[in-house]
This record gives sequence, structure tokens and C-alpha cells, in this order.
Amino acid sequence: MKTYQLYIDGRYVDPAQGEWFDSIDPYRGEAWAKIPRGSAADADRAVKAANKAMWRGPWSKMTASARGKVMRKLGDVVAANAERLAEIEVRDNGKLMAEMLGQLRYHPEWWWYFGGLVDKLEGGLVPIDKAETFAYTMHEPVGVVAALTAWNSPLLFVAWKCAAALAAGCAVIVKPSEFTSASTLEFAALTKEAGIPDGIFNVVTGFGPEIGSELIAHPGVAKITFTGSDTTGSKVYETAARSLKRVSLELGGKSPNIVFEDADLSAAAAGVISGIFAATGQSCIAGSRLLVQNSIKDKFSGRLLELARSAKVGDPMQPDTNIGPVATPVQYKKILDYIDIAKAEGARCLLGGKPASGPGIKGGQFVEPTIFIDVENSMRIAREEVFGPVLSIIGFDTEEEAVRIANDTIYGLAAGIWTKDLGRAVRVPKLLRAGTVWVNTYRAISYMMPFGGMKYSGVGRESGIDAVREYLETKSVWISTAKDVPANPFVMR
Ligand code: NAD
Repeated sequence: MKTYQLYIDGRYVDPAQGEWFDSIDPYRGEAWAKIPRGSAADADRAVKAANKAMWRGPWSKMTASARGKVMRKLGDVVAANAERLAEIEVRDNGKLMAEMLGQLRYHPEWWWYFGGLVDKLEGGLVPIDKAETFAYTMHEPVGVVAALTAWNSPLLFVAWKCAAALAAGCAVIVKPSEFTSASTLEFAALTKEAGIPDGIFNVVTGFGPEIGSELIAHPGVAKITFTGSDTTGSKVYETAARSLKRVSLELGGKSPNIVFEDADLSAAAAGVISGIFAATGQSCIAGSRLLVQNSIKDKFSGRLLELARSAKVGDPMQPDTNIGPVATPVQYKKILDYIDIAKAEGARCLLGGKPASGPGIKGGQFVEPTIFIDVENSMRIAREEVFGPVLSIIGFDTEEEAVRIANDTIYGLAAGIWTKDLGRAVRVPKLLRAGTVWVNTYRAISYMMPFGGMKYSGVGRESGIDAVREYLETKSVWISTAKDVPANPFVMR
């Protein structure tokens, strides 16, 4: 079993309190790594190192082009290590190797893209309305960034947050989820190999309320970027407000996937299945509410059942596995509780609805792919995020009704629509209150496409050019070109 260390100021170091905790492989249900249990002292050490490196170290003295080159090199180094990192992710969170390998092979794009952006962050010359004045704007890094990540895609979130932050010239301290810290600790060594200066990329690990809370309250942190639940997100927001820190939040969802009667039903069925069952439903963008036009509800539900029944549940490392284990015992219990709640509320269970068992299943926690029909949008199963392989089917008659039900949620992360009607394909996305809308596809993401939520799903955007602005301050510079002294010093020029 590997014992990890924190990564602070370019070195692996023991946690101040000398304590470690086990990381559990969700497939086997066994401990496989020892993770440092960080505390306030470690958070403080990392914040101090990051501030020193960012404001006084080589990072601030390098040209933008040179910083960009180092970041692009990091992309190359990650590409060379994609397989190894993907395996670590699977050991920690139980997601399918096929999916994590896809994520890790795609991960370098963020470093290449944002590395390419560094020397294009130009300021502007303002044609100012004052005589004898020269005025321009410039962009500066906001300061040291604390990046707190969730357990479902740890290194994808590192790419989303840190590539944009480093492009802006910031230093980062990543606090991964206590359930999945190993991959981020391994990643740290790659930043050194690529030439990222010591102190610019740091990793502290441990429990949210122990070290995460210390990090977000630390006066040396200027910006918090957080991915996790809306409950924790609102606590983070509250703490940040006390010291007026900048905040970006990527939170949960209850995304509608809307299938109209004119859709290509085979494509829609495949999209709905991957929307909810990929990643065992442990995805912020899970299409957990299927809104289907009543005229095709029975036919379409039949197709879904056929596809869902073919899913192979088992070892996430095997290429033919479709559904892996649930990542944590807490999450496993939560999913089973929601299944009971849905049954008690009167939703009809079409498929699954209990723990999965069978030959490919080890000691870990597995849930059968589950489909509920006759769901009302007012039921808890349709309103609260389950974060598991549980689909709720809700019928509708008209486009207006579909839009109304889709928007009747506190969340606004993503939505899907399936239609062949061109007018509808343009009209409906405008009406949906969600940060991302997919038409005749689902779950697509890209380093160049902004991602983020409306309402309870978050604040700010990651990926795409806009993401770097989340880590920048704009400075306005005024220069007088006047030769004379103001005649009246008491009146503004
Ligand atoms: P979580 O809120 O429990 O934890 C997220 C992070 O916050 C972890 O690193 C945790 O240690 C830390 N944390 C917990 N309590 C804290 C505290 N008091 N102070 C500071 N930090 C604290 O979330 P999770 O269970 O890891 O992730 C699942 C959630 O994340 C789901 O709601 C999911 O929808 C959401 N998510 C959102 C996105 C997105 O991009 N919008 C992506 C993935 C997951």
C-alpha cells in the first residue's frame, strides 16, 4: 500500500500532525493507499509558499510566452502519463477505466489551450474622454487560488481550474476530495517535471471540515474555485464573503433530458441511457429527469428498458463493463434511500431498485440501473440530486409544458433536447435556464466551451476563454501628459 505525502513548495512533505487515513478502492471495498490528514498548519504552509512563489518567485518574472510554454509542456507530460493516472482514478473512485482513460487522454488539451492563451491576454488602450491623458487597462492575476474538488473526476477538475488559474499568473493550492486524493498527489510530480516553479502548484489533502475550511478562510487566499455539492458550496460562499474573496462554484444538478415525439428515438434512447448511467450516474450533468412526450412515452420507455437491461455491472477495469461501483459508502446509502423515497412517493419502479449482485461484483457497493416511471416533478426523486444510476420518467403533452417542467427546479446546470424540428432545436435552448443545453446529443464537453451553472448549480464558468477572466483583475492606468500644473487643485481635471 502506497503512503502519500502532501505536495508543498515543490516538495513532498509529511502532514504537520503526522496522521494518515485510508483511501478505499470502491470495487474491492478495501484500503489501497494512505492519504495525509492535513490540518490548519499544512494549509497555512501551502498558502505562504504559494504567495511567496507567485508574487516574489520566478513565475511573476517570466514572460507570458515562457509561462505558456511550461504549461504546454505540462500537457505533454500528462499525455505521457495518461494511462497510469487513469488507473489511479479508477482505484479511487471506481469509475470505468474506459471513461477515465478518455478523460486523462483529453486532459492535456486544457494545458495546451490555456498555455496558448497566456500571451494573448492583452490589455486595452482606452480612447479616453479627458484631454492630455493616456489611459489603458491591463490584466493581473487575482492572487493565490484555493481549488477544492469533488471525487467524481478529480484530475479533470484540476485541469479545468488550474490551467485557467496558471494562465492568469496565479499560484494554486488544490484540496482534492478525501475520497479521491491519490491522483492529484501523483499529478503534482508532473508539474515539477514540466518546469512549473516550486510553490506555484501545491496539493494539501484531508477532510473538508478540517483542512478545506482552513484553506477557504485563510487571509492569504484571494480566490476560491470549488466543485462539489450545493450544500457545501453555500458554506464556502458564506465563509468567502467574510473576507470578500472571489468565488467560482460548480455545483449539483437535476438536469432534464427532453424527448419530443419527432425525435430520432434510437439516438435519443442512447443519449438518455448514457446521460444517466454513464459514470454510474455520479455526474453533475446526469440527465436524471427524462421528460418524454406522452404520445411516445410507452414506446420510448420500452426502448430504454431494453438498453438498460443489457448493461453489464461489474469490474470498472474491464473494457466490457458498463456500470461500475458507487464511489463511497455514504453515496451508496444515499442512492438506496432515494430509491425507497421514490417508491414511498408512488413512483413506479420499472427496472432495478436495489443493490446489484452477481459474478462480476466484489465487496464494493453496487446499485442496479434503476428507472422510475409515473414520476411527478413535485416528488423528491425529481427535485433532489441523487448522484446515482436512477432515472425518473415524467410525461408531458406540449413544448410549453416541457419547458415549464424542465425549468421547475432549483438547479440550472445542463439540459438535453431531442428533436428533428429545426425551429424547436433553436427555440427551446433559449427558453431553458441551464448553463449548457445539448441538442440531439448529451454529455459533450470541451476545453474551449464554457461550462457552469445557473441558479443553485453555481457561479462562474470554467473552460473556454472566459474561464481565465475568473482569475484576473482588471487594472486601469491613467497617465497625465500635461505640461502645466492644474490651475485649481481643488477641482478634478
Ligand atoms: P462535497 O461538497 O461533499 O465536497 C467537495 C469538496 O469540498 C471536497 O474536497 C471536500 O473535502 C470539500 N469540503 C467539504 N466540506 C467542506 C467544508 N466545510 N469546508 C471546505 N471544504 C469542504 O461534494 P462531493 O460529494 O465531493 O461531490 C459531489 C457533488 O459535486 C455533487 O453535488 C455534484 O453534482 C457536484 N459536482 C459538480 C460538478 C460541476 O462541475 N458543476 C462536477 C462534479 C461534481
